[in-house]
Amino acid sequence: MFLVKKRMYNELFEDYSGDCRIDFPPQIHDFCQLQGSGNKEEIFFYHGDHLSSTQMVTDDNSDYVQAIMYAPFGQIISEYNALWHQDIIPNFTFNAKPLDEESGLMYYSARYYDPKGTFNSRDLLFEKYFWLSPYAYCANNPVIYIDPDGKKIVFAEGTSQEFKDAFKAAIQHLNKNKVGGIASHLEKSRTTYYVAETHGEDTRFSPSERTVYWNPSLGLETDEGVVLSPTTGLNHEFGHALIYDVSKEAGKGKEYNADRVKGSDPDYGTKNERTVITRIEQRTAKALGEIGEGQVTRRNHGGTFVPTESPTSNQKKAITLPEFIITAPKVDE
Ligand SMILES: [Zn+2]
Repeated sequence: MFLVKKRMYNELFEDYSGDCRIDFPPQIHDFCQLQGSGNKEEIFFYHGDHLSSTQMVTDDNSDYVQAIMYAPFGQIISEYNALWHQDIIPNFTFNAKPLDEESGLMYYSARYYDPKGTFNSRDLLFEKYFWLSPYAYCANNPVIYIDPDGKKIVFAEGTSQEFKDAFKAAIQHLNKNKVGGIASHLEKSRTTYYVAETHGEDTRFSPSERTVYWNPSLGLETDEGVVLSPTTGLNHEFGHALIYDVSKEAGKGKEYNADRVKGSDPDYGTKNERTVITRIEQRTAKALGEIGEGQVTRRNHGGTFVPTESPTSNQKKAITLPEFIITAPKVDE
């Protein structure tokens, strides 16, 4: 493999050895495209840089068929094969997004991007980032960030409208009470997080799936006699996601895993849980008026799930017994 890579590197370097110079990354991106045309099948290997932008395309003979140089915002400055769009090679270019040769735009799932540096439609989350132009790409920092689909917290597939409404209400409730910071951190993260609907008591954050599972109709009654709303429960799980995100960005995977070892904290089960409960859950519950000054939500990781009046409420739902209709016994006529 090394010899093949080296040969490609040399060939490419000769072509670009004029005034400009490209440093090819050592890794070959595991992104290849199999495309059939008529009765001919070909395989292409896309060699990406740190932003997954195609720098070089090679075929199955390890010959290069395309090489591209970009301006920082993705405009193509120089390409080896300017006619490649007439061939059968798919035009994955900047951030590995498909280039539409006719318009010169790239398709980014949610919208089209003009590589001169702007999107042609507004950012889906433009209301949240009002200090940025809604047409700006990656906060005008395309060298560090990529924006695969315009949103960073996404709903899992098959999510019901009812759940989306409950989620929206919870986020608004958090924002209104000035504890929406964790959600907005996750939205701005480089990692995409998912929110999935559950109907049981399995409200949790899964680091491997980067998914918060949430039941918007269950609050938690703790040993302190406090009832926490489903919204506080959501922010609790976001807290777990936040710790994951921050640890990941800081390269502190080892510390993160150590804090999640069962028994690492005598009261809360894990150190990770202690941090979330004593810092995030407590602060959220206080801001939402679910606990008073000097009160704690709980001193352990326990509690009983209870249905509440709404996703933002910490009032236990009054249990209504089904109505029995008593009728006189039928008499045969
Ligand atoms: Zn937890």
